[in-house]
Parts: sequence; C-alpha cells; structure tokens
Amino acid sequence: MNSNFDPRRIEPRADELAGRVLAITGASDGIGRAVALDCARHGATVILLGRSERKLEKVHAQIEQARAGSGAMLAVLDLERALAGDYDRIADALLERFGRLDGLLHNAGVLGVLAPIEHYDVPTWCRVLHVNLTAAFALTQVLLPALKRSADASILFTSSSVGRHARAYWGAYAVSKAGTEALAQLLAAELENISAIRVNAINPGPARTRMRRQAYPAEALESVPPPETLTRAYLALLGPASRGVTGGSFDAQ
Ligand code: NDP
Repeated sequence: MNSNFDPRRIEPRADELAGRVLAITGASDGIGRAVALDCARHGATVILLGRSERKLEKVHAQIEQARAGSGAMLAVLDLERALAGDYDRIADALLERFGRLDGLLHNAGVLGVLAPIEHYDVPTWCRVLHVNLTAAFALTQVLLPALKRSADASILFTSSSVGRHARAYWGAYAVSKAGTEALAQLLAAELENISAIRVNAINPGPARTRMRRQAYPAEALESVPPPETLTRAYLALLGPASRGVTGGSFDAQ
C-alpha cells in the first residue's frame, strides 16, 4: 500500500470517472445517495442498489435531470432478505448490460441498537451482521467475475471508527465494521498480484444522515457535515486516482 496516498486531498477532474461503471449499495439515501450523485456528476455510469425501488427511482431521476454521467441502472436488492438467486440475477443483468464492473462501493448499513452485550437482542445481532457484513461478502463474491473483466477495478468497503476501535454499547454494529475491515484486508491480500482489483476501506466519519440521528438522537444535527461534503475521498478511491492502492483503511474526513 502507498502510505502517502490521501484520498481527501485529491480534487477530481470534471470527467474523473468517465467510462467507469460503478455499483453502489444503499444508494437510496444518506452517504450512498450523495456518492452516487457525485459519481454520476463526474462521468460514471452508476448502478444504484437498494431495497426501495421508489427511493432509487428518485435518485435515478435526479441523475437523469442533471444529465450527469452516462446514466444509471436500478437494482433492487434487500440485503436482509436476498437469496443466492437474487444476487445472481443482479450479477447476470450487470454483465449482460455493461460487460464488466469498474467499482463496487459497499455502503448500505444498519445500526441495530445501542445496548450492552449482556442485554443485546439476538435477532438484531444476526440482522446487523448479515446486512453489514455477510451480504457485502456475498455481493462481492458474485460480482468478482465482472470486476475481473475491468482493467482497473476498485472495491471499497464502508467502515466506522468503532470498527477500528470498539466502544461500549455499539454491539453488533461495531463487530460488523471490525469484520468489514478484516474482509477488506484479506480480500486485498488475496487479489494483489493476481488481478487488477484493489480493495480498501473508508470511514466516512460523522455525517448528517438518518443513521447518525438514530445513534445520537440528542445531537444538533446541523453540527454534523452533510454527506455531500464527504464524497471527494470516495471518488478518489473508486476512480483512477487510487490505481495501485490496495489494503488501505482511509478516512473521508
Ligand atoms: P443511512 O441510514 O442514511 O442509509 C443507509 C443506506 O443503507 C440506505 O440507502 C438504506 O436503504 C440502505 N439499507 C439499509 N438496510 C438495507 C437492506 N436491508 N438492503 C439494502 N439496503 C439497505 O446511513 P448512512 O448514509 O449514514 O450510512 C452509510 C454507511 O456509512 C453505513 O455503512 C454506515 O455504517 C456508515 N457510517 C455512517 C456514519 C454516519 O455518521 N452517518 C459514520 C460512520 C459510518 P433505505 O433507504 O431503503 O433505508
């Protein structure tokens, strides 16, 4: 890994992502929506993955309205409920339409609850680990053939400060994010030297979204940066600027 690489410092050119096909999970809201819109603005074709078709259509309409990028494709996938066939269907549709995938951002996530381990609800634990970690593994696995067809592919996992150093009461969310960091590291090591796929993790830091409100209900939300201000590091890590950078764990702020 190039230890001097700082994706926050890279100012994207207007056409930074032109010609790139990027898939983004949780593109319907919050950080994922902001990154999807900015990727399209910088020339990418964006595959919007999410569980709500209605919300994805709104993002799609925004992209079309701005005549940004080379369009977008919707892919409805509920990461809590999806079965193997649902993942295969998306991988097949993507390969058929684009022939390859140049970037995959695992952004969708759920917080679960903040509670001591002693009282943590077991079904919630399973759901959080499944959506945040297992589903990202399954989607990566099924999309690897498309990523291998790209000359310069990037897989980016979303971490969190509690995934790097766990704090009391963050339960399954912290464990899922620690697991995500491990998944990014081991996949980077497996793919290095045998493919053109780089794998990194990003911690967005505090962002003004529904999840932040859920985690910090008493906080003045205006004190937290809106997701639109954090996208620069994502663009650098998904785009050509990060070519050759793999196995890293970065901050968006
Ligand atoms: P939001 O709650 O605003 O958005 C979460 C996104 O994930 C939504 O698009 C949501 O879809 C999607 N999602 C949730 N469950 C599922 C599911 N079962 N299937 C498919 N999609 C699903 O969260 P943020 O934008 O804040 O978070 C984005 C990422 O950033 C997460 O991984 C989070 O852990 C991480 N993060 C956020 C921080 C913050 O301060 N906001 C800080 C550190 C990390 P829908 O719109 O349908 O609900």
